[in-house]
Amino acid sequence: TAETAPRRRVLLKLSGESFGGGDIGLAAEVVRRIAAEIAVAVRAGVEVAIVVGGGNFFRGAELAQNGMDRARADYMGMLGTVMNCLALQDFLEQAGVSTRVQTAITMGQVAEPYIPLRAIRHLEKGRVVIFGAGAGMPFFSTDTVSVQRALETHCQEVLMGKNGVDAVYSADPRTDPTATRLEHLTYTDALVNDLAVMDATALSLCRDNDVVMRVFGLEERGNVTRALQGEKIGTLVTA
Ligand code: UDP
Repeated sequence: TAETAPRRRVLLKLSGESFGGGDIGLAAEVVRRIAAEIAVAVRAGVEVAIVVGGGNFFRGAELAQNGMDRARADYMGMLGTVMNCLALQDFLEQAGVSTRVQTAITMGQVAEPYIPLRAIRHLEKGRVVIFGAGAGMPFFSTDTVSVQRALETHCQEVLMGKNGVDAVYSADPRTDPTATRLEHLTYTDALVNDLAVMDATALSLCRDNDVVMRVFGLEERGNVTRALQGEKIGTLVTA
């Protein structure tokens, strides 16, 4: 019966870059489109947890290159992700989807604190949970946090939505004409060949915990819904 059938629960990672539409700040039309695509899958019964990056505001490593203390710069990066969470929350609510934002850095006026059991309860009730402020720790990436949140809230798959690429390639397709598109690869392949899928911390966390991941492009219309509903787009990455 519908009561006993486990629902599909996934963690969607959205790059901050996509939210900026290539610029600093917010490209509202992009976030609106992504929210509408998420709403379709939620209505079809998929439980959706989301981690949003912050690259459209600040990246700690870049600020550090310009002379800032890395840890403080990383906190700026994490705060940027929260603005993206609020924007996505707004467009999801406009699309008729019930949402909660939970942040790793407490800010009670704008979001709940990160409480894993509560996040799971929200998901069971059909609410989209958006995780903000990364892990709350400098020197980590939102990719690593995506994997950690997926593991802790028992998501079956991590869906890595990328900007500028539609899959994992054997080399950078923008600079290397011999680059081939990969249907499947392992975390060890990615680590050994230094493929730009994710940082090494995220890759090893995936490998050690047998995470199933799909890397796909956010730009093509409908791709977010497709990924959420389990279509085999992009590249599958497994242990
Ligand atoms: N960040 C951090 N700890 C975390 C997650 C993020 O310090 O757990 C900071 C880091 O400076 C990073 C920035 O937040 O550069 C924005 O996140 P990220 O670069 O992962 O966003 P994306 O590239 O996905 O847009």
